[in-house]
Amino acid sequence: MAPTSERDWRARTRAVRGGLDRSPHGETSEALYLNSGFVYDSAEQAEARFLGEDEGFIYSRYGNPTVAMFERRLALLDGAEACFATSSGMSAVFAALMCQLQAGDHVVASRALFGSCHFIISQLLPRYGVEISFVDGPDLAQWQAALRPQTACVFFETPANPTLELIDIEAVADLAHAADAQVVVDNVFSTPVLQRPIEFGADIVVYSGTKHMDGQGRCLGGAVLGPEQFIDEVLQPFLRHTGPALSPFNAWVLLKGLETMELRLAEQCRNARTIAGMLAERSEVQRVVYPELPSFPQQELATRQMTAGGSIISFDLAGGKAAAFKLLNGLSCIDISNNLGDAKSLITHPATTTHRAIGPEERVRVGIGDGLVRLSVGLEDPADLMDDLGAALDGIG
Ligand SMILES: *Cc1c(COP(=O)(O)O)cnc(C)c1O
Repeated sequence: MAPTSERDWRARTRAVRGGLDRSPHGETSEALYLNSGFVYDSAEQAEARFLGEDEGFIYSRYGNPTVAMFERRLALLDGAEACFATSSGMSAVFAALMCQLQAGDHVVASRALFGSCHFIISQLLPRYGVEISFVDGPDLAQWQAALRPQTACVFFETPANPTLELIDIEAVADLAHAADAQVVVDNVFSTPVLQRPIEFGADIVVYSGTKHMDGQGRCLGGAVLGPEQFIDEVLQPFLRHTGPALSPFNAWVLLKGLETMELRLAEQCRNARTIAGMLAERSEVQRVVYPELPSFPQQELATRQMTAGGSIISFDLAGGKAAAFKLLNGLSCIDISNNLGDAKSLITHPATTTHRAIGPEERVRVGIGDGLVRLSVGLEDPADLMDDLGAALDGIG
């Protein structure tokens, strides 16, 4: 049976053709509409656009044809009704929360969060009269106990950055929905290729396009996905008037990135699997955290919720910070960088970089020790990556 619409296409076809909006020139690749404004045929048409009675574009802070192609393609991949793109992952996280919260509301979040997400929830929201509670994400009893009538939404990352701690999306969504709270999931580590939170009951999903979507270290971007009514009526006014719009150029890069994301991630997961196994054999390494390793404490949940373990490995070095720094400095192929999801393998020491600001006590609570390093596995030949890691580990002594 021939597909009748892009919603009938399978994931790979959606990734390559979803949202494609060809101009009358019939260009093969998606066009880059690098423009800020749009012109109208008449004053009446301009009025109709502003009234929402005419479908066309108004201004690139509101919408742009290249950005719209990215939004549609990502919504198709994620299984969401609608999407609004943003200038970075953090503007997506901030907008997804701020657009729906007001003073007196309450938010429950898992404690293991990316540093900037932690800042928004622990530092910014309370300034505006929003009460917050942090819970240990895998402990469902803590979610249950923290939810109250004022809880407007819950927020979590799974897997969390950098501990790879998983949260049962379906179970937390059931609890949150019973309390009438919206479920907002930061799905950056998984991408829609490895995990589609909406299928497990999440209401809103946020992404950093900067990571695997671009996947080649070129530009920042982000997106919020969810029900059409939420995106159009709650999120869109907030974003249109506060202005963290995705640049059309960045949208074009991310749109082309989506075409190959599944293929890149499959290879990156394969490489990560091989390298995780190699690291687990090394005496300098105290513990390797990777969802596909038999030692992973939440393997059952990983299998239920994710289609593969991902491209990120975290591991603890027995020699603490000194050993971690020695390892990073001893690498010659893998780069020291706090980005992730890239074709190039990148390694970072979270305690002194991405998670420095959350402070030592909070780091201990979420399991970010001084010997922990986070490796984002790229597309290089895994033999070269293992040679590099092996030599650097030998150098720790
Ligand atoms: C990187 C990251 C973000 C922020 O994305 P940017 O595009 O850098 O703003 C948010 N959440 C997680 C889990 C991330 O890893």
